[in-house]
Amino acid sequence: MKTNFDFLMPSVNFFGPGVIEKIGDRTKMLNITKPLIVTDTFLEGVPDGPVAQTLASLDQAGVQYSIFNGVEPNPKVRNIQAGKAQYLADGCDGLITVGGGSAHDCGKGIGILLTNGDDITKLAGIETLENALPPLLAVNTTAGTGSELTRHCVITNEETHLKFVVVSWRNIPLVSFNDPMLMLDVPAKLTAATGMDAFVQAIEPYVSTNRNAITDGQCLQAIKLIEESLREAVANGHNIEARTKMCEAEMLAGMAFNNADLGYVHAMAHQLGGQYDAPHGVCCALLLPIVEEFNIVACPDRFAELARAMGENTDALSTRDAAELAIKGMRQMAADVGIPTSIKAIGAKPADFEMMAENALKDGNAFSNPRKATKAEIVALFQKAYDAE
Ligand code: NAD
Repeated sequence: MKTNFDFLMPSVNFFGPGVIEKIGDRTKMLNITKPLIVTDTFLEGVPDGPVAQTLASLDQAGVQYSIFNGVEPNPKVRNIQAGKAQYLADGCDGLITVGGGSAHDCGKGIGILLTNGDDITKLAGIETLENALPPLLAVNTTAGTGSELTRHCVITNEETHLKFVVVSWRNIPLVSFNDPMLMLDVPAKLTAATGMDAFVQAIEPYVSTNRNAITDGQCLQAIKLIEESLREAVANGHNIEARTKMCEAEMLAGMAFNNADLGYVHAMAHQLGGQYDAPHGVCCALLLPIVEEFNIVACPDRFAELARAMGENTDALSTRDAAELAIKGMRQMAADVGIPTSIKAIGAKPADFEMMAENALKDGNAFSNPRKATKAEIVALFQKAYDAE
C-alpha cells in the first residue's frame, strides 16, 4: 500500500446521458480549430451514433474537422502512422477520439508520433515521452477499458505480433466524455467482453503492490456496481440504469488502475491479444480466475474483501475460504455473461507459451502483481488457462 503518491486523471470528465452535446463548445474553449476525429468505419457509419452526435455538436459550435476512420481493434502501428499522415495533410491542431479503447489508444499513438518521434516501438515503457501531445478529447463508447482517462497507450506491432504499452502522464486526455446513451447499442457479446475488462481492472489494482487508499475505494465500488449491472446490461442493452452503472464502474476502475497499476492478468492478456488478435476483454476474462488463484497466497485478506464486494457472505469462513469465494465469483460472472472457459477458444497454442511467458514478464503490468512468478510458473498458468473446462 502506498501512502505517498501522485493521483492522475483528466482535468475535466463529463459524465451522464446527453453530455456529448458539450463537445463542440469544449473543443472551441481549448482553441482547437480543426480536430482529427479518430474512429473506425463502423462507428462512422452508425446513423445518429457516437460519431454523428460528436459531429453535430462540432457543427453547431462552428468547428471544422477531418475524419480518420482507420482504427482497427488492437490498434496497429500502421493505423497510427496513417492517422499522423492525415493529421498533417489536413492541417489539424487537435485530436478527438470516438470509440472504445482502440480509438483512444490510436489517438494517443498519433499524438505520440506527432511530437515524440517516428518510431513508437522505441517508446514502450514508463515515462518515455519528452514532449506534450496535441490537445486530446476522448469520447468513450464502451464500458470498458478506461482508456479515455488513462496514461496508457496500448499498440500492437503487426510485424512482431507484440502488444506494447507506452505509459506516460502526457498520454492523459485533457477531457473525457462518458455518455451512457452512446453505449445502448453495444452488442451483448461486446458488452460482456468490455464489462469483464472493467471487472479485471477493478480487481487487479485492489491487490496490486502499488495500491493506495483512494484506489482501494474505487475498486470496491466498481466491483459492487459491476455485480449490480453487468449481467443486466448484457441481457438488455437498452436498460439505461444498467448502462449508467457500468459506465460509472468503468470510470472508477480506470481511475484505479491509472494510479495503482495492474498485474499478470493484463501482462499475459497482452500476449494473447498480440499473438492471436483476440478481443482484449475476453483475453483478460479467460485468465482472471487462473491468475488470481495463483495470487491468493500473497494477500488472502484482500481477496476475502473482494468476495464481500461481490456480495458473498463470509461471516462463518476462514480468511482463506473467504478468499476462494472471490475466485468462484469471478468464474460465475464470466459464465453468466457467456465468456468461454479455455484460451483454446481464441486459438491459443501451447507451442507459443514459452515465448509468451517471457514477454509477459517484461510487460509494464507485470511489476505490480502481488506474487512474483518465474517464467515456468507463467507457462504453467497459460497451460492451466488452456486446460480449463
Ligand atoms: P474496441 O475499442 O477495440 O472496440 C471493439 C469494437 O466495438 C469495434 O469494432 C468498435 O467499432 C465497436 N464499438 C465500439 N463502441 C461501440 C458502440 N457504442 N456500439 C457498437 N459498437 C461499438 O474495444 P475495447 O474493448 O473498448 O478496447 C480494446 C482495446 O483497448 C485493446 O487494444 C486493449 O488492449 C486496449 N486497452 C487500453 C487501455 C488503456 O488504458 N489504454 C486499457 C485497457 C485496454
